[in-house]
Amino acid sequence: ETELLRLDNIEQVFSTKGGDVPAVGGVDLKVERGKVLCLVGESGCGKTTTARAAAGLIRPTSGHIAYEGQDVKHMTRKERFDFRRAVQYIHQDPYAALNPTRTIYSTLTAGLRKHRIVTGRARSRARAVELLERVDLTPAESYLDKYPHQLSGGQRQRVNVARSLAMDPEVLICDESTSMLDVSIRVSILNTLGKLRDELNVGFLFITHDLAVAKYFAWDGEIAVMYLGKVVEHGPTPQVINDPQHPYTKALIAAVCEPDPDSARRVDATAGLRSANIPSLTNLPSGCTFHPRCPLFAAGTCDATEPPLVRLDGRRRLACHVVARDHKQAQAVG
Ligand code: SF4
Repeated sequence: ETELLRLDNIEQVFSTKGGDVPAVGGVDLKVERGKVLCLVGESGCGKTTTARAAAGLIRPTSGHIAYEGQDVKHMTRKERFDFRRAVQYIHQDPYAALNPTRTIYSTLTAGLRKHRIVTGRARSRARAVELLERVDLTPAESYLDKYPHQLSGGQRQRVNVARSLAMDPEVLICDESTSMLDVSIRVSILNTLGKLRDELNVGFLFITHDLAVAKYFAWDGEIAVMYLGKVVEHGPTPQVINDPQHPYTKALIAAVCEPDPDSARRVDATAGLRSANIPSLTNLPSGCTFHPRCPLFAAGTCDATEPPLVRLDGRRRLACHVVARDHKQAQAVG
């Protein structure tokens, strides 16, 4: 069985002074052993909330999360501990994630000592060295007695990854884990993560706003594109990148191809959209929530009913009235 983590119809509503905010509105996903699933979308699309729910850090308002077939809600204390150990969340900001008053050795072995997974100083140090080598921080001994402020951003992120490996995880959830780093450092950390996937056979849930990163890291995996709390397109990475079907995915890809690096960071009218503004989560548009921006907008259909996420072909899923209809017609003709 390759399936490790399954999300079924996850909904997350946050109550705020301004009203209820439906951050995630019914997401189904699964993470498989040794595979990468990349969640892509603009900030505020619900990808971090989905990831935090998947890691057990927040309890979803409704829906089910299962680890190795078992519903997280019905786990015993021991099973829950094992789940938290097996599914590790790697934070976006390596500096905030590391305790500045602790040495790298102490950070890496705190969990091991607390849960008596490794005892004795010699064995703990040996384990810490092994973890640092896994993330390509060598010579590992030279890092053990350092503090986070003595390391570069890239080195800190590697320590952060090493710490999550200390618990022998099965799933790594990386939330924009490379977005604060320079391009060359980012690529080198992505290579380390890829190596870990191959060596340790862990499954990845990888969150990014950057399609280029998704393409690089998840080329033999899958991409799920999120928009305003929902998955709008999901499929094998080469298909999604080379042959996007949803108008929003197309716009995201067009924005990445923009030569101006600043405009590449956001999806706007240059990518063929009718409006650059992302609607508010507290006041979602009717029907398809993408309709105020969509170049294919069909009045009376798109603003009337929400398009369901349907299987298009093979492993590909899509939520769009117009493209799904055209696809069906093309299949009927063909
Ligand atoms: Fe665009 Fe309509 Fe498809 Fe939504 S359902 S993405 S508005 S064509």
